[in-house]
Amino acid sequence: MKYSYVSHLYCPKCSSIYDTKAQHQLCTCGSPLLVDYALEGLGKVLSPEQLKHRKADLWRYHELLPVEDENNVVSLGEGMTSLVPLYRLGRDMAVDHLYMKDEGLVPTGTFKARGAAVGVSKAKELGVEELAMPTNGNAGAAWALYAAKAGMKSTIVMPEDAPEITRNEVAISGAELYLVNGLISDAGKIVGRAVKEYGLYDASTLKEPYRIEGKKTMGLEIAEQLHFKMPDVILYPTGGGVGLIGIHKALKELKALGWVEGDLPRLVAVQATGCAPIVRAWEEGKRESEFWNDSETKAFGINVPKALGDFLVLDALYETNGCAVAVDDEVMLKEQERLARLEGSFVCPEGAAAFAAARRLKKTEWIKEGETVVVLNTGAGIKYPDTVDMQPERLEKEEAIDK
Ligand SMILES: *Cc1c(COP(=O)(O)O)cnc(C)c1O
Ligand SMILES: [Zn+2]
Repeated sequence: MKYSYVSHLYCPKCSSIYDTKAQHQLCTCGSPLLVDYALEGLGKVLSPEQLKHRKADLWRYHELLPVEDENNVVSLGEGMTSLVPLYRLGRDMAVDHLYMKDEGLVPTGTFKARGAAVGVSKAKELGVEELAMPTNGNAGAAWALYAAKAGMKSTIVMPEDAPEITRNEVAISGAELYLVNGLISDAGKIVGRAVKEYGLYDASTLKEPYRIEGKKTMGLEIAEQLHFKMPDVILYPTGGGVGLIGIHKALKELKALGWVEGDLPRLVAVQATGCAPIVRAWEEGKRESEFWNDSETKAFGINVPKALGDFLVLDALYETNGCAVAVDDEVMLKEQERLARLEGSFVCPEGAAAFAAARRLKKTEWIKEGETVVVLNTGAGIKYPDTVDMQPERLEKEEAIDK
């Protein structure tokens, strides 16, 4: 049996077709490319039952991933994160069946490792020797470390005020690291010029087609962990939107395989009030977003003023009767504290935003009684030491605690 059932790349805008044997970036029309699989053939030879005995990482879905030769897989053990039922927080926000897909548990501490594992593996298969990318921090950290594991060079450009921890991850991997006095969009322009000048492989969000396939595995896992019964709602903190596009793609592939029944879950894109281009577009009923000026949020992973795949995110929202919600930083940090107090989980601010959105959507009855709701916590809170404001009491050596 084949390791991968990948068939070709296609353009969701102009329907052009490309092969998966050569390096491709964007379509000639400027749109991101998506990966297609021979699902009909696969449906005949694989059943969900057979997955049960496989390794607990994302490569258990190798037929639905683009890497064709198993020897090219670059893995640090990513995937198959817990889907944790949250009874106490669920009661607190009156959501009956609340789950957290906890991506704080993967290598490098965020779900970006999924995209990097599959993206770097496929790049290796395609003979890439050096890649380049702009990043707000987490993606660069993951790609730099996976590139190191693959023996590949990388050039990473990030905003000066991206978190120091992600900077350190990139630096220690041996990548070439540059800081720019600007936003990720400015870093992107610099990378674009370097790619042209030095012939590097452009690993920018959605400029190579395979990162999305790695992120798709979140959707595959959620379905498998719920025994191939779809949840009602999935909330996702949305920056570039790759995770949400990926989850949508995964669930559609599972449906095409006939592995799941019922409607797709309503997908919710959650953004920060300080950077909410998708929310604005959704509220205006538009199919594309506009550049968000002077964006600002502590949840730096979702500080993306204009996403290349915005139209795919909006398609996913319209197609599933989902919605888009913006959350204030203050509200997300309060929710982050609640998660820690009620569930013992220190989530990242992006994840906390998605929980705050669930709370609001239950209050407005957009989420209904008895529904199953899955929230993506996209990373570990320990990667954001500065989001916690604390003033512990100081004691002298001999002093006693006074309760
Ligand atoms: C990148 C990132 C996001 C946003 O993910 P997209 O798939 O680009 O929308 C959310 N949370 C964290 C922690 C991130 O690093
Ligand atoms: Zn095209």
